[in-house]
Amino acid sequence: MNYKVAVIKGDGIGPEIVTEAQKVLDKAGEKFGFSLDYKEVLMGGASIDVHGIPLTDEAIADCKASDAVLMGAIGGNTSTSPWYKLEPSKRPEAGLLALRKALNLFANLRPAYLYEELKGACPLKEEITEGGFDMMIMRELTGGLYFGERKTIEENGVRKAYDSLTYDENEIRRIAKRGFDIAMKRNKKVTSVDKANVLDSSRLWRKVVEEVAKDYPEVSYEHMLVDNCAMQLVRDPKQFDVILTENMFGDILSDEASMVTGSIGMLSSASLNETKFGLYEPSHGSAPDIAGQNIANPIATILSAAMMLRFSFDLDEAADAIEAAVKKVLEDGYRTVDIMSEGMTKVGTKEMGDLICERL
Ligand code: NAD
Repeated sequence: MNYKVAVIKGDGIGPEIVTEAQKVLDKAGEKFGFSLDYKEVLMGGASIDVHGIPLTDEAIADCKASDAVLMGAIGGNTSTSPWYKLEPSKRPEAGLLALRKALNLFANLRPAYLYEELKGACPLKEEITEGGFDMMIMRELTGGLYFGERKTIEENGVRKAYDSLTYDENEIRRIAKRGFDIAMKRNKKVTSVDKANVLDSSRLWRKVVEEVAKDYPEVSYEHMLVDNCAMQLVRDPKQFDVILTENMFGDILSDEASMVTGSIGMLSSASLNETKFGLYEPSHGSAPDIAGQNIANPIATILSAAMMLRFSFDLDEAADAIEAAVKKVLEDGYRTVDIMSEGMTKVGTKEMGDLICERL
């Protein structure tokens, strides 16, 4: 099989880490019998330098014409880069927001996985993390409080502000289906998180999730209130498989979950639409402080590429093999500087990519 992938290398460490991910993807392709055609697309600062704007219509069209998008990161040093002298709508980050909107990416996936080898970086007690944990946070990305009607008014000399949290049943159904689909590829458990004891939008969320669950008899599911979930993530993270939740709760819980795994250089992510299409990128930014030095950790991007194989192309075996190769490199004691610890062998960005390829 052949797939078309739009590649946004972006700014800072973006080009270095994406190059390693492509190397790993090509090696996986040789082994598992698929090929990828890459189309380089400019976005963020790289696009501003060439076109004067962070995202062109042509770049959007190139992404739409692809089967998936693989991205590094965009943006520069926000205090010193000339990109940040531009008005907000012309800055690098505006490109990413516009692309997410143009591609209708409503489902954000962030895995939180604790590697046995990196558990020293986990801030939780060892008795809690014994045996590791492996969960996926699925966050609704285009609705809810962040997109609702808002205003600030003054009434009788008193300032007042409103934000509205709205979901319709179709928005809930499509993300719930995505959540249950992902659970079918994992340990078949969904924890749907809401605040149904207070919010109407959460009560509708709960009803629609129950309707969707009927179509997935193999998946067990439970409802959990968001305040309890925030507590359970640090009390017993092992209990979770897929956490399914709305935009703002997901924003907060996904940061909490990723924090308990340790290093930012290891965290992958995906944003999906209603079809198999998705945008895959590391959770971290463009790290301009370490760009061009061959020291950035490429693993988050490599794991994002594995997610692309799994969720956009259904190449689960190849995705498993990449994840296993990453694990093996860590077991063998190789570390980039951000995850370095005593007694381990320090390697650069490129070497880490090579070591993962060798173990595929
Ligand atoms: P950042 O994630 O880029 O960096 C935070 C810290 O983590 C830095 O010390 C950096 O060196 C380190 N780090 C990040 N990724 C690493 C990796 N792979 N290996 C080793 N160390 C790594 O966050 P920031 O410094 O707040 O932002 C820098 C730029 O990135 C800004 O312009 C910001 O707007 C942008 N940004 C882009 C995205 C995106 O493209 N999706 C996301 C977040 C931030």
